[in-house]
Amino acid sequence: MWLLDWQELLSAEQLAEGGSGERELAERVLADPVGRHPWTCVDWAMTLVTCSQCGAEPTAGPWDCVRCAMTDSTRWQWNHTAPRSAITPAEHALRAARAALRAPHRRRSPVVDAWRLLLPFLVAGHGATSTDVSRLRAQVIAGAYTDLAACGSAAELTGFVELPWRRTTPTGDHHPQPHQPRPRRQLEATPPKTPEPTPTPDPV
Ligand SMILES: [Zn+2]
Repeated sequence: MWLLDWQELLSAEQLAEGGSGERELAERVLADPVGRHPWTCVDWAMTLVTCSQCGAEPTAGPWDCVRCAMTDSTRWQWNHTAPRSAITPAEHALRAARAALRAPHRRRSPVVDAWRLLLPFLVAGHGATSTDVSRLRAQVIAGAYTDLAACGSAAELTGFVELPWRRTTPTGDHHPQPHQPRPRRQLEATPPKTPEPTPTPDPV
C-alpha cells in the first residue's frame, strides 16, 4: 500500500527506485506542506532518509531525540489539516499501528502490544474505533495478551470479555468478578451483537 503509492509518485517524477533522485524526492516530500502528498508517501519517505539529529529513521530514534519528536508531531498534524477525504479512519488506524511498531521504544508497551494485536486485521481492511483500541490496551494491561493473540477475527479481538472492574449489574451497580476469559469455542459461537462499528480517528 505504502510502496505502491510511492512508486506512483516516483513514476510521476520520472525517477527510478534506489537512485539519488529518490532520496532527494523523499527529502522534498518531508519538507513540503502537510497534506500536499498522500500520507502513505510521507511515511515511505521517512524510511529513505535519516534524522539529522540522531541518524535513525525520522520519528524512530531515541525517545529523547527532539527532531524525531518534531517530525512525529508534524506527521499527525496531517490528520487536522489535510482534507477529510485524504485519509479514512481505517487508514489512520493502520498508520498509527505502523508508526508504533516501527518505534516501539518511544511508546508504552501496552500501546505497542495493542497495535501489534490489531495490525493483521487492519491490514485485512478492518477498522478499529478509539474505543476498541482503548479497551484492547486495558486488556493487555490486565495480562490478557496471550488470550487476545489467539483471537481469530477482529470482532473477536475487539469484543473480548469486559474487564471485571468495568462490569456492572443490569441496575448499574458495580459488580466485581475475577477475570475469567470465555472459552474460545464460546467466543466463536457467539455472533457479534452489533454490526461492525464505523471506525473513527484514534488520537495518538
Ligand atoms: Zn532523531
